[in-house]
This record gives sequence, structure tokens and C-alpha cells, in this order.
Amino acid sequence: MKLSNGLALNGHPSGRHFLQIPGPSTVPDRILRAMDYPTIDHRGPEFQNLGKSVLSGIRKIFQTESHVVIYPASGTGAWEAALTNTLSPGDLVLMVETGHFATLWKRMAERLGIVVDFVAGDWRRGVDPEIVEQRLAADPGRRYKAVCVVHNETSTGVTSRIAEVRRAIDRAGHPALLLVDSISGLASADYRHDEWGVDVTVSGSQKGLMLPPGLSFNAISAKALEASKTAKLPRAYWEWNEMIASNANGFFPSTPATNLLYGLHEAIAMLLEEGLPNVFARHRRHAAATRAAVHAWGLEVLCANPDEYSPVLTGVLMPDGHNADAFRKIALEKFNLSLGQGLGKVAGKVFRIGHLGDFNDLTLMATLSGIEMTLALAGVPHRKGGVLAAMSSLSGSTDHSSSEADRAVAQLA
Ligand SMILES: *Cc1c(COP(=O)(O)O)cnc(C)c1O
Repeated sequence: MKLSNGLALNGHPSGRHFLQIPGPSTVPDRILRAMDYPTIDHRGPEFQNLGKSVLSGIRKIFQTESHVVIYPASGTGAWEAALTNTLSPGDLVLMVETGHFATLWKRMAERLGIVVDFVAGDWRRGVDPEIVEQRLAADPGRRYKAVCVVHNETSTGVTSRIAEVRRAIDRAGHPALLLVDSISGLASADYRHDEWGVDVTVSGSQKGLMLPPGLSFNAISAKALEASKTAKLPRAYWEWNEMIASNANGFFPSTPATNLLYGLHEAIAMLLEEGLPNVFARHRRHAAATRAAVHAWGLEVLCANPDEYSPVLTGVLMPDGHNADAFRKIALEKFNLSLGQGLGKVAGKVFRIGHLGDFNDLTLMATLSGIEMTLALAGVPHRKGGVLAAMSSLSGSTDHSSSEADRAVAQLA
């Protein structure tokens, strides 16, 4: 791989690098070009136009009329902003162990002095709305202040049903806030901050938004904003109210990541040109074709519930006795293809195929070809024909719900 800063690994390979990890995703040329402009005065009138435009445009992507604040930070920073603006030391929250990112968010909450009731999970399923309802219904004293869940669990390829989690909270008649991490879901998987009654949505720039890492977001409901007035966790940089006051005129309290905002402006334009429903359908279709390949190879998809298959990435279990990282190393060295590593509990056992962002049928076919060739090179037991199965899946339909995809898979098996 040749990096543009002159660093190179193993000399120069011709052809493009396939960055098929589930974030950072490939940054399209239109966005690279859009960022390649001089940085401007962030207190001047030209910036004000940019600020107003991205602050209003990003609401369309979250499908919200509420405030969306933008931090120069990775997604982890926006996790901290969501917790510190809404909670007080010693507050109890409900979290669910859907995978590595849910576990990291829990660890952060505990470091901040929040008490976490962590529902154990096997990393193959999403949030069970019934368990949420049971826990909240069994809390007449209203001790839970928030339910914090991950929408698209990037470590496993499982997407939780946030609208159903909302309904579970409502059935229990509980006032807890709903905080959702859609860092890897936003702009790839359907996500509706307002319609689903989410109080704070956390997201980041380097996944569905197709930008480099460095921006993160909080979409904030009126109820969450109200909670911030009494929330006592210490916060300074992350303070929503200062941010929102400056944003009212298109400005930021401290220096914004101006060039990333040029990129964000372009990303919003691209997503709206394609149309969000089309963006989501494209991701579902590529995910279905990916699963068709995995099943045809005779390998197992990590996600155990077809209603929760992720449109963003697919986690694949390696057969016993085969290390996923050794496999990924061959894919990188032979084909200049980066696949996602297994994280936390599933390190070495799982590899992840990112099919998000700036991605089309041929990107998918190249990725799957690279994987099928690597399976052979690595001596991983598998059946041939995964690439063919994915092609049939792509030509069979222009869109795929999970159930359609599963019927296709059943026919192939
Ligand atoms: C990527 C990701 C994070 C972490 O975001 P950073 O930008 O690395 O801080 C958290 N949660 C989920 C679901 C993610 O996909």
C-alpha cells in the first residue's frame, strides 16, 4: 500500500486499495475534492453560510427537526457528550451487551460515575425489546434514568430494532431517556431520530457518511435538552448549550473542523441526490448478496437473527482451527484488500466484511472475489461458488428484505 504521505508498505501495488472494513469507509473522490480548499476564517461570513447549511442539512440525515450538534472528535467523544449532558453521578442506566461497542460504551459510563445494569448477551443478537420492557416495568421507583443501546453493532453485524425498543419503554410507561449509538448505522441503515422517539442519537463521520474520521454528532430531543438543565456530570468541551447558542448563527464556540465540514456539505448533497430510501435499499441489497456468498461458501454468519441482519457489514465465523487474522493478512498482502478484524471476545474467530458507504455492485463483487480467492490460499475449508451466488442474488432483485434474501439462500444451499 502506498500512502500519499510517501510512506509505503511492501512497495507500490498497482490498482486501488479495497478498504472493506466497516469504518472508516472509502472516501469518494467528490468528497476528497470538496475538502481540498483553503481553510477559512471560522468567524467570518463565508463560514457562516457553510455552518448554517451543514447544521440544517445534517438534520435530514438523522430524520429530525431537533438540534444536531457537531464536534471535532471521533464517535467516542460524542458518546461522552451524550452521557455527560443528560446524567448525574450515581444515576442508573440500562445497557445491553450486543457486542464490543456496547461494552466500550458501558465502560465509559462506569468511568464517568454512572451505574450500569448491563444485560448480558452472546454477541449474535440485538437488543431484546421484551427484556427492556421487563426491566423497566419492574422499576416502580423510576431509578433508571436512561436506556443506552447500540443501533448497528459494528463488531458483530447485528442491527437492533430501535423503534421496538422505544415501544417497549412506552409500554412500561417509563420516563427513562433513550440514548442510541448509530455511529455505524446512520446514512447506511434506515434511522429515524424523531419518528422512533430517540432522545440522543450519537454518530460519527467515517462510516455511512463517507468522510474521514474526525467529526461526531449528537441529535438531541427536547426532552434530552430539558434533562441537560439538571444533569450534574461535569462537562466543559461537550456542553450542548454553548454549542447550540453559537450554532443558532451558523458558528461554533471553538474552532470547528472546517475542511471536514466542506466534506460533510458534499456528503449530505450526495446522500440527498441519491435519496435516503435508495441509499438504505442499496445497502440491504448488498448485504443480502454478501450473505448469499457466505452461505454458499458453507461458512456461518455471526448474526443469529435474520430480523437483525446488518445492512452495513457482515460478520463471518471462521471454521474451528482457522484464525481470522491470519486469513485477513493474506487478503491484504495478496489482494490489497482490508477486511475488518474480530474485536474483543471474537478476536481471531470472526472477520467482518464492510459493505457500506461509497459502494456498488462491482465493489462488492471484487471484495467477494478477493475473499473467495483468499479462502483457497489460506486453506480454509469451504465450497466454491460464493461469488456466483452473490451475482445471482444481485441480478435476482433490485431490493432485498431479510426474508427475501433468506429464501434465496435456502434455494442455493
Ligand atoms: C466506530 C464505532 C464506535 C467508535 O467510534 P470512534 O469514531 O472510533 O470513536 C462506536 N460505536 C460504534 C457502533 C461504532 O461503529
